[in-house]
Amino acid sequence: MTNDITRLSASDLGSALARKELSSVEATQAHLDRIAAVDGDLHAFLHVSTQEALATAADVDAKRAAGEELHPLAGVPIAVKDVVVTKGLPTTAGSKILENWVPPYDATLVERLKGAGLPILGKTNMDEFAMGSSTEHSAFGNTKNPWDLDRIPGGSGGGSAAAVAGFEAPLAIGTDTGGSIRQPGAVTGTVGVKPTYGGVSRYGLIAMASSLDQAGPVTRTVLDAALLHELIGGHDPHDSTSIDEPVPGVVAAARQGATGDLKGVRVGVVTELAGEGYQAGVSARFDESLEQLRALGAEIVEVSCPSFRYALDAYYLIMPAEASSNLAKFDGMRFGLRVEPAEGPVTAERVMGATRGAGFGDEVKRRVILGTYALSAGYYDAYYGSAQKVRTLIQRDFAAAFAKADVLVSPTAPTTAFKFGEKLDDPLAMYLNDVATIPANLAGVPGMSLPNGLSDDGLPVGFQILAPAKADDRMYRVGAALEAALESRWGGPLLNKAPELKTTELAR
Ligand code: GLN
Repeated sequence: MTNDITRLSASDLGSALARKELSSVEATQAHLDRIAAVDGDLHAFLHVSTQEALATAADVDAKRAAGEELHPLAGVPIAVKDVVVTKGLPTTAGSKILENWVPPYDATLVERLKGAGLPILGKTNMDEFAMGSSTEHSAFGNTKNPWDLDRIPGGSGGGSAAAVAGFEAPLAIGTDTGGSIRQPGAVTGTVGVKPTYGGVSRYGLIAMASSLDQAGPVTRTVLDAALLHELIGGHDPHDSTSIDEPVPGVVAAARQGATGDLKGVRVGVVTELAGEGYQAGVSARFDESLEQLRALGAEIVEVSCPSFRYALDAYYLIMPAEASSNLAKFDGMRFGLRVEPAEGPVTAERVMGATRGAGFGDEVKRRVILGTYALSAGYYDAYYGSAQKVRTLIQRDFAAAFAKADVLVSPTAPTTAFKFGEKLDDPLAMYLNDVATIPANLAGVPGMSLPNGLSDDGLPVGFQILAPAKADDRMYRVGAALEAALESRWGGPLLNKAPELKTTELAR
């Protein structure tokens, strides 16, 4: 039974709870058991909050018994990326500099999860400060891909994606600055959504690059992503860039899409994000998905976004520039790690140097150096200024493309999951993973990755759908339609094809 519970989608689990076929305590315990059984291998979690999760579950069960009206996901457990602050639960952002730090408040999105009664199973592993595409930059060890334990689960949100793909959690929260929800989704066979910038509050996210960061859902189905998106989305006065408008009707759109009718929907294939540079199996699945969309009634058009080829370059100036400023608060004085110099005077500057030297990993140091250089007086216009101009050109390309197409599509990532160590010593090779996901962050538009099959190597492939800002509902409609068509071809969810994980004897 435990195994059956953990295989349910969040929406099915929510319905079963509403029908009182099982309790939230049982559902939560089933997931905690699964974590105990497989996380020794996967290492998706940095912290498991057993007591807190079971207490929330018991509370929801009591409310349900008392006949209270509850959210459709009430009682459905969730995992949260460790870059999101959680009151009373350790939050490290994958960094030694925050080891053992326990935040005094909840992020707005966590307040919303708690308000709706979703038990928080724990905090998931990630690349340090969300910098990476493989989770190998975590200060606390690698997370494994449930499809193949020798391979990366993507990054920076590899922990959230592996937890959902490994049936440790039906839902998770990720954050996406350049692809960290969508690329892990692609390589683990899960659904990942980066909402429109400003669609989900950033209050309580440990900032990497504030003009790019967005939190969003990591799930196994498009409908589950929509339910979670509606719950965590919406205006927050604590975030000055939060959109003060109702959340787009993403749940209704997902339900409409599932009926399989895409007549009149114009799907744009971005020339610059298709063709060369993708693994053969990734391109093959992409072409098949286009055929399926056409069969559902969509019109496929080709659009060109010439400035996209500079997106990666602009991102790797803007992101480090913002990160170098955001990370300045880790100074050994306010919170987290404090290291005093081994010898010599204990001045503020020397404590800062010793703390950052010991507390930040190589990738973080690399980006802080890059960012401070790009922002330095003599180079500001040449680097940061030019990158901002490219950003405007990318936004204009999107505007022109969305005049011709309702959604844009591409493969999510150039390859399937690579092996540990393969790209670790070559930062540029690592950065190239995000070539297709980064334009959306630079323009603030929403993006979804959805599993669309297996490559020749037997590993999952992702299909990316992009929509105009504040039209997130469009990608849910198209995503749900494609998902339904794919599942009827496969006879069920793609994750059913993943190898069974070895489970160790349960602690209980
Ligand atoms: N992989 C990208 C990077 O390293 C994106 C990270 C993210 O979205 N947080 O910057």
